[in-house]
Amino acid sequence: MALIVQKYGGTSVGSIERIKNVARRIIATKHQGNQVIAVLSAMAGETDRLLKLAEQLEFDPEKINEREMDVLVSTGEQVSIALMSMAIETVGEKACSFLGHQIQILTDDEYTQARIERIDPERIHKALYDGYIVVIAGFQGIDKEGNITTLGRGGSDTSAVAIATTMKADLCEIYTDVDGIYTTDPNICHQARKLAKISYDEMLELASQGAKVLQIRSVEFAKKYGIPLHVRSSFSADEGTIVCQEDKSMEKAVVSGVAANKNEAKITIHGIPDRPGIAATIFSSIADRGIVVDMIIQNISEEGLTDLTFTVPKDNYQYSLSIINDICRQIGGKNVLGDEKIAKVSIVGIGMRTHANVASRMFSALARENINIMMISTSEIKVSCVIAEKYTELAVRVLHDEFQLDKDPDYKE
Ligand code: ASP
Ligand code: MG
Repeated sequence: MALIVQKYGGTSVGSIERIKNVARRIIATKHQGNQVIAVLSAMAGETDRLLKLAEQLEFDPEKINEREMDVLVSTGEQVSIALMSMAIETVGEKACSFLGHQIQILTDDEYTQARIERIDPERIHKALYDGYIVVIAGFQGIDKEGNITTLGRGGSDTSAVAIATTMKADLCEIYTDVDGIYTTDPNICHQARKLAKISYDEMLELASQGAKVLQIRSVEFAKKYGIPLHVRSSFSADEGTIVCQEDKSMEKAVVSGVAANKNEAKITIHGIPDRPGIAATIFSSIADRGIVVDMIIQNISEEGLTDLTFTVPKDNYQYSLSIINDICRQIGGKNVLGDEKIAKVSIVGIGMRTHANVASRMFSALARENINIMMISTSEIKVSCVIAEKYTELAVRVLHDEFQLDKDPDYKE
């Protein structure tokens, strides 16, 4: 008998009809001789609806009561697990729902962004042993004081992986509204191809570069504990994509995916003194306000002055600009310029480690379309370029083409 954890996202449980459809799937899995734990998100749109209710209170964003935010947004999942358990029971199977505190999903006390530290397997084991399908609320836990915490947007993925780890599950399936991980967003590029498998590291890079299928932390967790994830659709029986440890066959593809991210803006400070401590002053003033800087470029200095360009999330753009304007005055810099109309396109692939010229092929492909590159950053398995936002879709298609991502690498050589 295998133990299977199935996570269903908001769209998969977005209506009573869909809840019934998922209930049938869960029951079918049980009838094949398995034990099943289902981890659910809130019904589609519910978490956003709750957040909007709180927004109407018009509180000062600096003074958000995050403890109460978590009490609020964790309610969405309570609704979906109760409805799912009832839907399963109407078909004559036994089901039992659990909230985070009932199975001691212990987290740290970072409200709205908490990390899971431990889960108590006892009650889940008992329910499974007694023949129940176990239905667990994703996205939530409690801190050691018993306060309700949530795990960040998309956090049910991480709940599912953590539960699969604790319960030593044989399989962790992530059911979502797309049928797997694609070489790029199929809405942008019709040639996008579904990948049969992808390594944890590639998935992590793609997720942090803008692919939204899995919460990043869930992939980190899966990687740490070596749990393969099967990302698939709850609307079809097709196989999806396995996210797993890398193997030799994966290196055949030089590039596995192209991602685009329009959620960043860039800021340049001109004419700042080039001396020790300046970069530290600038970036600590931003980091202290919880703003995450992504790319950074510093120019060669001329006559003791230099320029610094970096990117921040678009949501933090205005705030960052005002901070940087102040800093610029303090350190005697010339001026500050910003640009919100940028995008970052990235190519990702573990094959880059063993193939030369990948970056130059990327730059040439963009150049052929007259797309100017404003910033570049690289890692062992990724090259990213910042370009003008209006060229995003074109750049994605051009890169998809250049690296022949429409073809399965097995048929290439
Ligand atoms: N309901 C939460 C959200 O919308 C968590 C999740 O769906 O994974 O972000
Ligand atoms: Mg999700």
